[in-house]
Amino acid sequence: ILARIKDVCKRNGLLILSVLSVTIGCLLGFFLRTRRLSQQEISYFQFPGELLMRMLKMLILPLVVSSLMSGLAALDAKTSSRLGIITVTYYLWTTFVAVVVGIIMVSIIHPGGAAQKESTEEGGKPIMSSADALLDLIRNMFPANLVEATFKQYRTRSIPIIKSNKAAPESSTRRIIVYGVQDENGSNVQNFALDITPPPEVIYKSEPGASDGMNVLGIVIFSATMGIMLGRMGNSGVPLVSFCQCLNESVMKIVAVAVWYFPFGIVFLIAGKILEMDDPSAIGKKLGFYAITVVCGLVVHGLFILPMMYFFITKKNPIVFIRGILQALLIALATSSSSATLPITFKCLLENNHVDRRIARFVLPVGATINMDGTALYEAVAAIFIAQVNNYELDFGQIITISITATAASIGAAGIPQAGLVTMVIVLTSVGLPTDDITLIIAVDWALDRFRTMINVLGDALAAGIMAHICRKEFIKDGDEVPLICETK
Ligand code: ASP
Repeated sequence: ILARIKDVCKRNGLLILSVLSVTIGCLLGFFLRTRRLSQQEISYFQFPGELLMRMLKMLILPLVVSSLMSGLAALDAKTSSRLGIITVTYYLWTTFVAVVVGIIMVSIIHPGGAAQKESTEEGGKPIMSSADALLDLIRNMFPANLVEATFKQYRTRSIPIIKSNKAAPESSTRRIIVYGVQDENGSNVQNFALDITPPPEVIYKSEPGASDGMNVLGIVIFSATMGIMLGRMGNSGVPLVSFCQCLNESVMKIVAVAVWYFPFGIVFLIAGKILEMDDPSAIGKKLGFYAITVVCGLVVHGLFILPMMYFFITKKNPIVFIRGILQALLIALATSSSSATLPITFKCLLENNHVDRRIARFVLPVGATINMDGTALYEAVAAIFIAQVNNYELDFGQIITISITATAASIGAAGIPQAGLVTMVIVLTSVGLPTDDITLIIAVDWALDRFRTMINVLGDALAAGIMAHICRKEFIKDGDEVPLICETK
């Protein structure tokens, strides 16, 4: 037995360390909360976790560019277009299924209750419309400047414009009431002036702008296009393809070294977040039920629906596959970012599940950018929860609108922490719900973000396994001898 335990520890050392670090991080965080550390002390304490995030983010750019360019260049035109179409269709389908699961859960649990709340009007409040959000998504697909795309993305902002009111058409026109206080003899002892000029109306116009954060979508589109073109160039494209392959392999070697730091970083990342969070007892009952609804939906989608799809398509054991990517799931839990988890997802798929690297190089970066089942599910639940809290009855057409916009919003969300909260605006405005009510769910969002990111990463990884299975024939036909599909022994 001892020899067997030793063998298991040796083979799964990193995974065991990661599980331990999540546990230690939680315990340490709750223990230190009782010590009431100052903000300064907390920020010093969070430093090792910050370092982990920095390492992962540093690897995103070279990894996405090199994997997509070398991955797509290695496929012939027919295979790459087939793989592209199947992958994107599969991604859209699973995202839509996730939304449906979310809608069913929120309708059954009904976390928003039936409490009456004052109706809210959008009026002149700063809002970003669905059209603006959609235009931002398309703008991000085509970055005007590739260098800028590595640190900025397009985001439309609301700019206030002061307009004079109809009641006081010119700002110089003021309405003043003058009144006086008289003594018993009827003579004025004091006069008062009251300005009753209606305040000028503030309206907002939206203006395209840029915000901090890498435009991964733009980089994915550019690299994928370059990869396809390189593949068609034949021999003249070989130097650049070899360069990308070499870059990709060296990034993966950096990952192999950096992973040994990760368990240490995870402890501080998780404990640091627990130190920062609001008092859990202050979370209201409705918000608690809302969080439970999202988690139940994620569990149903991640533990039943996605593995079942994997099983039906590949006829292989999904549990074995999921065991192979556990470490990536833990990193997703710790970082709340599918882009930052990307290097580890690659490592797990190639080393543990033996997915063909050419498939992984295409399916994973695209998935980390556009395939977010967890985010889509959460957006649908959150929108319907906000409708319930406002006692707003949604008709069937509006439910359909929510499912379509939640799918679109998840595609538009970047693989970074709490990006889904920003794209929620698209879903809420599409059915006329108050965008201000996003504040209702902020208190629990940091925690839900971690769970939905795990499902996002799981969805991408299972998709890579499925695509490797579906496209295996093309590779065999080419006389390829690399391992094609994940092992399930
Ligand atoms: N944090 C999520 C991710 O990186 C996106 C989101 O839902 O906010 O996948």
